[in-house]
Amino acid sequence: MGMIQEIAPHQFHNEYQNTNIKKEDILLVYHEGMCLIRQQEEIGFFAYEELEELVSHKQDQFCYAFAIDEERYFIWEADEKTYRSFKDSPWREKGRFEKQQIFRRSAPQYRCFAGVTGGQLNRWYQNEVFCSRCQTKLVRHKTERAMQCPACQKLRYPVISPCVIVAVTQGERILLTRYASGHSTYKKYALIAGFAEIGESIEKTVQREVMEEVGLKVKNLRFYKSQPWSFTDTLLFGFFAELDGEEEITMDEKELSEAGWFLREELPEEFDGVSLTNEMIRVFRDGS
Ligand SMILES: [Zn+2]
Repeated sequence: MGMIQEIAPHQFHNEYQNTNIKKEDILLVYHEGMCLIRQQEEIGFFAYEELEELVSHKQDQFCYAFAIDEERYFIWEADEKTYRSFKDSPWREKGRFEKQQIFRRSAPQYRCFAGVTGGQLNRWYQNEVFCSRCQTKLVRHKTERAMQCPACQKLRYPVISPCVIVAVTQGERILLTRYASGHSTYKKYALIAGFAEIGESIEKTVQREVMEEVGLKVKNLRFYKSQPWSFTDTLLFGFFAELDGEEEITMDEKELSEAGWFLREELPEEFDGVSLTNEMIRVFRDGS
């Protein structure tokens, strides 16, 4: 399994279009962080014609998101009334709302990628309602993926936060962590991770985050791959870095519950997910 955005042979097209929904287009319906999916084993969504009866009067709220191959996806945040109507039969037999975490562990991957990427866009549109400078109601830009203030013209673009994932290694060993319960709901082993801050290069972010989380210095940074991680509106930059000097860990107990060195052959088999973190640990385990 590749990372979540690696959907070949499918192709992702994210160019913005100012266009209206057609019957055969997919409508991704969200409600308070959940997404409407089909009642079936594999992830599936609904074409607009299947939902039309319930949602056609909301059509001006739908927003074109992207296409995968020839299939066009629109997004919409369902209001409370429509959300409740999906819970009535016969709809209950056809579809259900699920938290977007389901896209981390389901198939097919291109649909999971569509669900979570649409989720990021939908969250952004939900947040961009009024101008943050003059409080006027924003309108959609005609040709770009942006919201614009009709009064002061200020433009707002989707929020994408740069973040590093760092695999600190020393010979045959790699440093793994677990998040503290108050810091993240993610319970499996992870790598050092953190957001870039104002005025620093991404390499500097690597060094600062490793120092903050485990009190270690690193050298010989090697960029591995990046990943759009829409669950948290981030763009991840994965680095391998070698330990520089002292190996004794001083853990940041606010962020982490556990941090330690693991030998290559001791690494658990659990690293089979769609995240960059998982792929980097797997790559190290398998010897590259
Ligand atoms: Zn304004």
